[in-house]
Amino acid sequence: MLKVVKFGGSSLSDATQVKKVFNIVTSEPARKFVVVSAPGKRNASDEKVTDMLIALAEKALANEDVTEQLNKIIQRYRDISTGLGMNDDIIDTITQDLKNRLNSDKSIKGRYLDNLKAAGEDNCAKLVAKYFNLQGEKATYVSPKEAGLLLTAEFGNAQVLPASYQNLKVLHNYEGKVIFPGFFGYSVNGDVVTLPRGGSDVTGAILAVALECDVYENFTDVDYIYTVNPNIVSDPLPIDHMTFKEMRELSYAGFSVFHEEALTPVYYKFTHVNVRNTNNPTAPGTMIHMEVNQNRKHRITGISGDKGFSTITVRKYLMNREVGFVRKILQMLEEECIPFEHSPSGIDDISIILRSKYLNKEIEDKLICRIKKELGAEEVSIVHNQALVMIVGEKCLDDSETLHKCSEALHEAGIVIKMLNQGSSKLSIIVGIDEADFEKAIRSLYNKFFIEMA
Ligand code: ASP
Repeated sequence: MLKVVKFGGSSLSDATQVKKVFNIVTSEPARKFVVVSAPGKRNASDEKVTDMLIALAEKALANEDVTEQLNKIIQRYRDISTGLGMNDDIIDTITQDLKNRLNSDKSIKGRYLDNLKAAGEDNCAKLVAKYFNLQGEKATYVSPKEAGLLLTAEFGNAQVLPASYQNLKVLHNYEGKVIFPGFFGYSVNGDVVTLPRGGSDVTGAILAVALECDVYENFTDVDYIYTVNPNIVSDPLPIDHMTFKEMRELSYAGFSVFHEEALTPVYYKFTHVNVRNTNNPTAPGTMIHMEVNQNRKHRITGISGDKGFSTITVRKYLMNREVGFVRKILQMLEEECIPFEHSPSGIDDISIILRSKYLNKEIEDKLICRIKKELGAEEVSIVHNQALVMIVGEKCLDDSETLHKCSEALHEAGIVIKMLNQGSSKLSIIVGIDEADFEKAIRSLYNKFFIEMA
């Protein structure tokens, strides 16, 4: 049995947390490959080291004095190392590293920013490896460069290059634990490039696949992934098992525990993912894998949702006879770089649902004008403040009961369904409602599926 164990920022935020990491990693020989994030928030009003590094880079790019910001970051690491009883050698290493990065070439902003952002994880991994050694545990910090983790040269938004999977096998050659920084890798040109925010989850998944591990353990600060957002329903039921497809559907709209891009590599290799809690390591956590849980106690696996959608509705008599009509609308969106999310249609009407953040008054006026003029549409309207709610569960749509219970729950709560999408996905129902009804809808659906139907 071999595992990749990834720890998020809250698991590395201070010395007490790092000690927990040490105990978790050393409690099982299978936990050989350790991926670390940068230190996260110690409390609600604290700052993540990655955010502090971004602010540092921005100050440097604006040629402002960086002394105070740099000292604040060094102090975060010093608090951790002092709390772990380490001497200042590691702080000297970190200080020098940050100064080198600050003095690097500023001619490409994205490259400079990524080089500083990556310092959070990189220095955290060095510190953790050193602490493991001081405790008498054989552990080696390995840099993504040495290990050949190659990414596309998209600063702040990189993706893994296929060659990495072969290169990373070199990590098997190290004796003892391997401590690997998450969130960044190198472009083919040798520049530091970062994954999207929260990308250490993705690094863990890449390593788990490359090193052919049996399980990818993702340690965070919750015991389980829950059936519904705990900020909306207090004390919701946990999810013991879920499938990759269910996780993907749920994380599309609101489930942010595990980075959705991290599912891609593990999905194709059937690696088991286990989301667990650093602060309560005896809780078994949520298992994500290919197999549908045969013992599922409830009809569905989870409910998620998101606000911030807008709907463009277009009406044209005999639209159904006009070949290419929808393509032309989608092309207009493409020209404005707007992705669309859903597109329910009638005979002479079509609705395009998209995220409101891509729209503004100017773009809306332009789209309305073009659709009317170029496509001869009779009516074009745009409605904002829409929310989408997703009811997810593999095999829950094999009969009509799920849809029946879903509309019953919303009807009982007095909520009008504005859009309903079932069928394109075999495992989810998507309901469009007014944003103002969002929390009420989630609570009512939770009660129906997880309390009444238990
Ligand atoms: N530290 C990075 C961030 O805050 C990456 C990560 O934590 O996964 O986004």
